[in-house]
Amino acid sequence: MIELSFMEYCMAIVIGSWMLVALFSWISRFAHFNDERRGRRTRFVCALCLTAWEDRGREKLVDCPHCGRSCQRPQ
Ligand SMILES: [Zn+2]
Repeated sequence: MIELSFMEYCMAIVIGSWMLVALFSWISRFAHFNDERRGRRTRFVCALCLTAWEDRGREKLVDCPHCGRSCQRPQ
């Protein structure tokens, strides 16, 4: 078995928990970025009448439900 002094044991716990926090914050940031990108593709604001709506379809051009102006889906 590996012999650890109390100081080394404490340092291992501190460094290990710091690495866990860094890993989880990185994962959380990545998930948030993906969610933002997905949201930008489904949420629209009409440039003509300022109606905001959500469309989860795949068409490149989406018609405004209020005035009928077609809006292009961002890439
Ligand atoms: Zn509109």
